[in-house]
Amino acid sequence: MPKTKHIVIVGAGPGGLCAGMLLSRRGFKVSLFEKNSEVGGRNRPIRLDGFVFDTGPTFLLMKYILDEMFELCGKRSEDYLEFFKLDPMYRLMFSDRAVDVYSDHDKMRAELQRNFPEGSAGFDRYLKQEGDRFKKLYPCIKREYSSLKDFFSLDLLKAVPYLALNHSVFSNLGKYFNEEKMRLVFSFQSKYLGMSPWECPALFTMLSYLEHEYGIYHVKGGLNKIAAAMAKVITEQGGIIHTDTSVESLIIENKVVKGVRLQDGSVIEADEVIVNADFAYAMTHLVEPGVLTQHSPERLKKLEYSCSTFMLYLGLNKRYDIPHHSIVFADDYTSNISNIFRKKSLTKDFSFYVQNASVTDISLAPEGKSALYVLVPMPNNESDIDWESACADMREQVLDAMIKRLGLTDIREQISCEKIITPKTWATEENVFMGATFSLSHRFSQLLYWRPHNQFQELDQCYLVGGGTHPGSGLPTIYESARISSKLICQKHGVSYSEIDNSAAA
Ligand SMILES: Cc1cc2nc3c(=O)[nH]c(=O)nc-3n(C[C@H](O)[C@H](O)[C@H](O)COP(=O)(O)OP(=O)(O)OC[C@H]3O[C@@H](n4cnc5c(N)ncnc54)[C@H](O)[C@@H]3O)c2cc1C
Repeated sequence: MPKTKHIVIVGAGPGGLCAGMLLSRRGFKVSLFEKNSEVGGRNRPIRLDGFVFDTGPTFLLMKYILDEMFELCGKRSEDYLEFFKLDPMYRLMFSDRAVDVYSDHDKMRAELQRNFPEGSAGFDRYLKQEGDRFKKLYPCIKREYSSLKDFFSLDLLKAVPYLALNHSVFSNLGKYFNEEKMRLVFSFQSKYLGMSPWECPALFTMLSYLEHEYGIYHVKGGLNKIAAAMAKVITEQGGIIHTDTSVESLIIENKVVKGVRLQDGSVIEADEVIVNADFAYAMTHLVEPGVLTQHSPERLKKLEYSCSTFMLYLGLNKRYDIPHHSIVFADDYTSNISNIFRKKSLTKDFSFYVQNASVTDISLAPEGKSALYVLVPMPNNESDIDWESACADMREQVLDAMIKRLGLTDIREQISCEKIITPKTWATEENVFMGATFSLSHRFSQLLYWRPHNQFQELDQCYLVGGGTHPGSGLPTIYESARISSKLICQKHGVSYSEIDNSAAA
């Protein structure tokens, strides 16, 4: 392949960086354009007075997929990043008990025995049957769905009996566990996709299975270091990353993308354009109205989107001794979920997640201090919540909840710096459509062939990577989207692409 084939990537989030890494390794000229001053998108760091926070992702699942991406570039992830496997992985705080969740199966059995009358009876069946499901579904996650022919693949036909189409994650777990709280231990992970466990398709029971099978990792300095490491690999391989450079529009002629126009008016020509910016944002802001039919602004509004989040990043003058990850359930979890997804309203009884990564990684806060990251799932911007006026009250409620549920009684006095992101600011500052932080919802009708295709079906020379395309939101699947799109580009230009699958060895 002539080295002159030019790939332009819009956005240096995890998807764009991973694609940039894979394609620059394969001889393409790669240019990334990123609106922010730093790479990483929702995976970039927030730095406040000596404290470091991850903006978004804090759980690294399926680490072996990240390793594969480095291996595909002839590198080892360990040469760029320092990993910590967390065990316990996290603590779940119910109103009446706290459950530590371990990837060590013996410790997990003991914890289930300690906390639930039915004990660990269903756990081994869960591991076995969800393991079988994952083995059948994994090939379907890794392939592309550009046409119905691809959709009716042998892989998918073999997986059909494992899809449990008439079940949600919560109801599927009824096969193994009776008690509601026990099912929540293995189903709250639907929130990673911004979905309710009562609505999330049963196939996503694999999320909790994957934690138990492969564990959860932290990276020294925060998961944002992954983005920085990928950027380093890109530049080592000759790719160029332009930060502080917004793309204003895609240049489209007869439904073929020829390049991009930057905000300063300059035109960058490309042989292929990869869009990593949030899918629905990009199609409504970077493409002129009237060009797209299936994904016109009107039709995009009708799709279903994930929930949003209210974020509080706190730099604290004291070292707090709470676990690395704590998930605190609302007293009435069912109503909390209904408020977020159906009523789209605020509630005083909310669930929240707190990361206290400084207990594992001293690089994140000055000595003797803590960097706490708080995430509260919220309705997306289909709600009519006025965040300008709701923000201050929400902050107080979150601090009250941290006092009441986590015992951090002096937290208000210890705050030395802070930052807030609301569902509104996800949309206005981070270019996230509807403030839906986990992208298009993962209901079955928006998955696989029905999710926007990696080779975007409405425009030639245009590929998608990131949470809004197949396979979906979450770092491992976003890296898979980059692998799929990069492979399609390689195939188109006659560049060989070797496969790696370390899932069995991990
Ligand atoms: C609060 C939160 C917590 C999460 N937690 C986890 C977790 O624990 N584990 C996990 O695996 N996943 C998690 N996720 C989901 C997912 O991994 C991240 O959202 C991830 O960053 C999404 O990557 P992306 O490549 O799709 O998009 P983004 O990270 O949004 O990257 C898109 C990039 O495009 C840029 N861009 C947008 N418009 C333009 C433009 N016009 N010109 C130039 N550049 C542009 C943006 O600035 C951004 O850098 C979380 C997400 C959030 C928000």
